[in-house]
Amino acid sequence: MNRYDSERLVEILGEEQFVLVDDHRQADLIFINTCTVRDKAEQKAFSYLGRLKAVKRRRPELVVALGGCVAQQHGEDLLRRLPHLDLVVGTHGISEVPAMLARFETTGERQAFVEFGYDFGDAPDGRTYSWRPGVSAFVTIMRGCDNFCTYCIVPFVRGRERSRSSDEIIREVESLVERGVREVSLLGQNVNSYGQGVSGELDFAGLLRRVAQVDGLMRIRFTTSHPKDLLPPLMRCFNDLEPLCPHIHLPVQSGSDRILQRMKRGYTRDHYLGLLTELRGIRKDVAVSSDMIVGFPGEGEDDFQQSLSLLEEARFDALFSFKYSDRPQTAACRLDGKVKEEVKLKRLQTLQSLQERITLKKNEAQVGQISRVLVEGPSQVGGSQLSGRTPQNRVVNFQGPPQLVGEEIPVLVTKAHAHSLEGVVCLEANASLKVVKERSWCGK
Ligand code: SAH
Ligand code: SF4
Repeated sequence: MNRYDSERLVEILGEEQFVLVDDHRQADLIFINTCTVRDKAEQKAFSYLGRLKAVKRRRPELVVALGGCVAQQHGEDLLRRLPHLDLVVGTHGISEVPAMLARFETTGERQAFVEFGYDFGDAPDGRTYSWRPGVSAFVTIMRGCDNFCTYCIVPFVRGRERSRSSDEIIREVESLVERGVREVSLLGQNVNSYGQGVSGELDFAGLLRRVAQVDGLMRIRFTTSHPKDLLPPLMRCFNDLEPLCPHIHLPVQSGSDRILQRMKRGYTRDHYLGLLTELRGIRKDVAVSSDMIVGFPGEGEDDFQQSLSLLEEARFDALFSFKYSDRPQTAACRLDGKVKEEVKLKRLQTLQSLQERITLKKNEAQVGQISRVLVEGPSQVGGSQLSGRTPQNRVVNFQGPPQLVGEEIPVLVTKAHAHSLEGVVCLEANASLKVVKERSWCGK
């Protein structure tokens, strides 16, 4: 979500003749886009902002702006607390930035914009692009969230749930494809409830079916799905739509029914595990990733053991796990039974080492297989290595010429690591890959 917002900002400022620079010493404007979902993310934003104090003292003409959820959460108060901060831009304020900058330049007035607006006016309409998309691009389909899980600050800083019109979404996908994008990731806090409350709008399964018809689009992904709203029409898309990648991010948060209830998640452990069985029945090669929180208020040793046993049963391909932190305004803040920091840390380490073993096993099972890899660009490991992703969202690094970027190619997996795979390109495997693909697709 934040990366998408940053890309929109770069695009909007590009129209004002701003260019991105790598080194903040060359910048006329520093815009810090922030996340406040967990306490640590917020602290990081404030610590970076603190370091800019000295920079602004040396270069008073530098404009310092803070955007995103931290800006939304604290609003105008930040201008009072931080004299070196010039602009505060809330989560719905990206399209306001050029006007705010112009006003600041002419009047020197420091400003905060924290209103909620829902016109999706900052989302690109496909006509004016200054930002160059890569092989894969995000497309926002909705904003906000109405679920109010008790630990979560998102509904407070991103506002109520609103869906963007499907026509606008399709226009954006089409123009991205015209500009070389091969894969789109549809973004929303709970994509399963897309279209709800908008008369005549498609539901999420309907939207996926329309996006899948866009000519030239190779791959579709989406995030995030809420387990309580994952229904058969959406699951069937994994069987019916070839561009839809066999990967779903389905956050579980806990393996204990008691804790799930305290989190107000709206499903039980059995329901969640049943969804996985159903999904894997529809599309047997589907990969599942998830989120888990440890140390939620009231989480006892028994509850935690149930989270561990859920990992054993669910066999996730990847897991993002977090220590619970109190967030302002949320219901969990006021719950009793707060878990000590050292207990949370210990549980996090135990959970992560179990998942690492599971992920490694799953990755090792890929060795010797040929996978279709969409090549995204140079690998983080450096050299002349390229990097791409399998349909299941596994990262694969391999040696290859830069001309392969943007192509979907067969790669033989030769080595497994905890977070990635190594492989060799085998173009001669095209024919056999087709057979592999046809067999694994359709889940039969
Ligand atoms: N809309 C998404 C998640 C958004 S937040 C969903 O429903 O899954 C991303 C993740 O941050 C959550 O899935 C949760 O695991 C974690 N998270 C949210 N609030 C948290 C908190 N207060 N403490 C620790 N982790 C939290
Ligand atoms: Fe937060 Fe729950 Fe909404 Fe996800 S579904 S954004 S966790 S309130």
